[in-house]
Order: sequence, then structure tokens, then C-alpha cells
Amino acid sequence: MADDMTGESGKAVRSGFGGKIAAGLHFVATPIGSARDITLRALDVLAGADVIAAEDTRTARKLMEIHGIPVAGRPMIAYHDHNGAEARPKVLAALGQEKSVAYVSEAGTPLVADPGYQLGRAAIDAGYRVFAAPGPSAAVAALTVSGLASDRFLFAGFPPSQTGARRRWLEGLEAAQATLILYESPKRVHRILGELRELYGADRQVALCRELTKRFEEILRGSIDQVIAAIEGRVLKGEIVLVIDRAPPKSASAEDVDQALRAALVDLPVKAAAAQVASDLGVPRRDAYQAALRLKEEQG
Ligand code: SAM
Repeated sequence: MADDMTGESGKAVRSGFGGKIAAGLHFVATPIGSARDITLRALDVLAGADVIAAEDTRTARKLMEIHGIPVAGRPMIAYHDHNGAEARPKVLAALGQEKSVAYVSEAGTPLVADPGYQLGRAAIDAGYRVFAAPGPSAAVAALTVSGLASDRFLFAGFPPSQTGARRRWLEGLEAAQATLILYESPKRVHRILGELRELYGADRQVALCRELTKRFEEILRGSIDQVIAAIEGRVLKGEIVLVIDRAPPKSASAEDVDQALRAALVDLPVKAAAAQVASDLGVPRRDAYQAALRLKEEQG
């Protein structure tokens, strides 16, 4: 059964397996391990697109072969980090001829620590339609199994490898009020956990997610210290996502409260100033009210 989707314009865009695919650039997510994690719509788009663009055309061919999708003489364009400037015009030319172009990265969702951003930007700027065939991404898979809060998360990609830049990068994320998701090479996983212990404290909860959806999938959850102990002396192989709990909220000092109240009392009466500061700094409303009364008295 072919399925009907609603396109950006609100018009139904028909897409059966191998059927006609709407003109435009289609970012297609592909599996991060298990080949069966491809979506039916990703297969539709790969089967029906006029042009296939790929970070690695060999990987794309192999994926299509696994799923019985012939390239059938369609043009394949290699588009990766090192040839964007030369390859982009080729993709844009195809879009200019009202063709459908499917883009796949090496694995997972294009643009997520993978090429595609500048290609998408160029297509949008030139007025072409851009579609997503959403699917797997290691970041979201790791968040899902991490056991850490998922209400707000910050995907930070790969940390820089150079020591100074890496430290500044990690320091900049330390206080983020969101679950952090990082990609890291297995060669540097011991190093990053040591750095996190030093900068974030040994008790911060983390989940080290390795080889998700693959045969040797492993998830280690616990404090930074516990995970360091669990992998001590081990050489970790494969692909890794590190999920890190957010910093505990900092409790405001009496001085912080006074300072915020002084500012609030300029425009607000005592009760409203206390309510605002209590909510902003997460302190009990009664304490803020008492402090506001004291400051008001001092001010005369
Ligand atoms: N675009 C991909 C995505 O959507 O997840 C990410 C591409 S990035 C170049 C590759 C990194 O993703 C790996 O170094 C690893 O950190 C993470 N990754 C990819 N597949 C993974 C898997 N099966 N298990 C754990 N991490 C994975």
C-alpha cells in the first residue's frame, strides 16, 4: 500500500515504494548499526529519488543493496566535509532541474555531527524545498536509554581534541540546565571521564553508551567515579555517546537575594518584589518577603 503524506505546502505528496518523490532535497536518516532500523519512507525516497547524494557513495550503495534498491543508472554525487564547495553546485543544478535529490550521510541523521548543514542552507537560500525522512540518531538513542532527564537536552557534538580548547569547551557546558549529549572517540573516553571528574565533580551522573543497536551494545550508568571504575584497564572499542546529567541548581546566597531584591524594589512594591525574586532564585517566598521588608526599612 502506497502512503500519502502531506507536503510542506499542505498538498498531499504521493510516495509509494519507488514512486515519484517530490522535487527538492531530501535528508534521509540511515541506521546507526542495525540495518533494519531504516524507515519505510527512507526506502521510498532512496528508491524514487532522481539523484542520490551521499557522504560516502560506497556506503550508500551497500545500504541500498541490503534493502534491494537498485541504483539503476541514477547519478550519485559524493558530498562530504572536504568537497562541499565543488559538490554543492552539482546538487543545486539537479534541484534547478526540478529533480528530487536524496542525501544520506555515513550513518544516522545527516547534519547531526555529519555533513548537510551548508547543503540545506544553500538549497533553502536558492528557494528549493527541503524535506526530512527522519530516523535514527545516536544522540537520541543514547538519551532514550540513559536514564537521565529527557525534558531538556543539549547536543554538543564532539569535544575539540586540543587540550586548551577542550577544557574551555567543557567548562562552557558545565552549568547548562540541560542533559548533555556528547560524541567521543573510544580512544579518548578515559581522558574525557577524567576531565569531567575534575571539572564537573565525581558525583555527576553519566551514561556511557557504546555500540548502540549493535551486537556489543553496552550501557554503563552511574556517577562519573563509578563509570571510571567500571572501565578501568579496559580498552573500549566501537562508537560512543556520553550522556551527562545537568548541574545541580546552585542555591542562592543571602547576598544574592539582597542584591536581586534591591534591584526589584526600585520598580515594585515589597510583596511583588519578594515574589519575583523568590521565583527567579528558587528561594522560599517567606524568606524573600522578610528580606524585602528589612531592606525597605533600611532604605527608610
Ligand atoms: N549522524 C550521526 C547521528 O545521527 O548520530 C552521527 C555521526 S558522527 C560522525 C559519529 C559518532 O556518532 C560516533 O563517533 C559516535 O560518537 C556516535 N555514534 C554513531 N553510531 C553510534 C552507535 N551505534 N553507538 C554509539 N554511538 C554512535
